[in-house]
Amino acid sequence: MNLPEGVVIHGREPRPGGPQWTERYRGAVMNTFGDPQRILVRGEGSHVWDADGNRYLDLLAGIAVNALGHGHPAILEAVTTQLQTLGHISNFFASAPQIELAERLLELLDAGEAGGRVFFANSGTEANEAAFKATRRTGRTTIVAAEGSFHGRSMGALALTSKAAYREPFEPLPGDVRWVPFGDADALAAAVDETVAAVILEPIQGEAGVLVPPDDYLAAARRITTKHGALLWLDEVQTGIGRTGDWFGHSPSGVRPDLVTLAKGLGGGIPIGALVALGEAATLLGPGNHGTTFGGNPVATAAGLAVISTIEKDDLLTATRSRGDQLAAGLGANARVESVTGRGLLRGIVLSEPRSADVQRAALDAGLIVNAPTPDRLRLAPPLVLTEDEAADAVRTLSAVIDEVLS
Ligand SMILES: *Cc1c(COP(=O)(O)O)cnc(C)c1O
Repeated sequence: MNLPEGVVIHGREPRPGGPQWTERYRGAVMNTFGDPQRILVRGEGSHVWDADGNRYLDLLAGIAVNALGHGHPAILEAVTTQLQTLGHISNFFASAPQIELAERLLELLDAGEAGGRVFFANSGTEANEAAFKATRRTGRTTIVAAEGSFHGRSMGALALTSKAAYREPFEPLPGDVRWVPFGDADALAAAVDETVAAVILEPIQGEAGVLVPPDDYLAAARRITTKHGALLWLDEVQTGIGRTGDWFGHSPSGVRPDLVTLAKGLGGGIPIGALVALGEAATLLGPGNHGTTFGGNPVATAAGLAVISTIEKDDLLTATRSRGDQLAAGLGANARVESVTGRGLLRGIVLSEPRSADVQRAALDAGLIVNAPTPDRLRLAPPLVLTEDEAADAVRTLSAVIDEVLS
């Protein structure tokens, strides 16, 4: 077995291969995810290595999380320096990176004169939970959510997540949720009235297989919510912080939402979530209304600052668009690919047959990490630092795998 040089696995056996670890996983880790596809031991840039020494091009990046890839020096430096200086402090106290990251997020969202406030959490679910609680402070309780949505697995976030298999074992969930088909502005207009506290939408539905709504959908959602005094709540947990080639998935629409939730890419692999509330929504939650022990801690917020400044410094928004177009053009040319959806480096690959799980397994054997969110769709969400050569390698290998599996 070939482990990369210098890798030490802490365990009973000094250098165990994958199978032993899988057995130990089964015996110790709760079975909510099924068996792990591989046991991973190391990552660098856009690649990871497994316990048997095999290398993989990571086209999923921990589900749109490792925006700067694995082991990026800017994150290492920010986290290490912060931890050496000041680690955890609780929210009885504040720290400079927390305040700076809040300010940066408000700038990126163009909070402007109307201002805004940020609540830091530790995950996308928690960011959405904070937003859900904020909507209750409007005095209204109805939420309009979209079919195909994914907002997290807590009881609150799950109430707004459409997939029956996720919801039904845990009902009753918080009620007053109205469902509308995603991307249909007329259906949205018909569902929103003066009892609606908020409309929650993903700018692009990631878990549903990277579904992009019509161009004018978010603008229509803004008009409809404003008309009825409801909040527009955009879940940017997957689409935010550069993933789509803009700072936010909603950026091209020009709309100003009331609530924006962030997580995944924000910390570049360090757990962090954020609710950004703009304008009047910023004061919905007040003292005593919500809290968290870890949220906004110095280390996670320092990581967030490092991610944002690296995206700026290295012009990763432009790179994300170029690499995204390269993947879309390359894979779109395959006759067994019906279409490529999404923007930037959040892409859905629609296969001509519902065999995405088979393609995903074969891709892994060929050294590529991809994901199969629906039977006929693959999802790609590689690091934003993916190089042109790596993207070319991804197209070549994945295209060959698709040909082989679907032939
Ligand atoms: C992943 C995701 C969540 C949940 O985030 P967690 O960090 O897993 O809690 C919520 N909304 C969207 C759109 C997501 O993609």
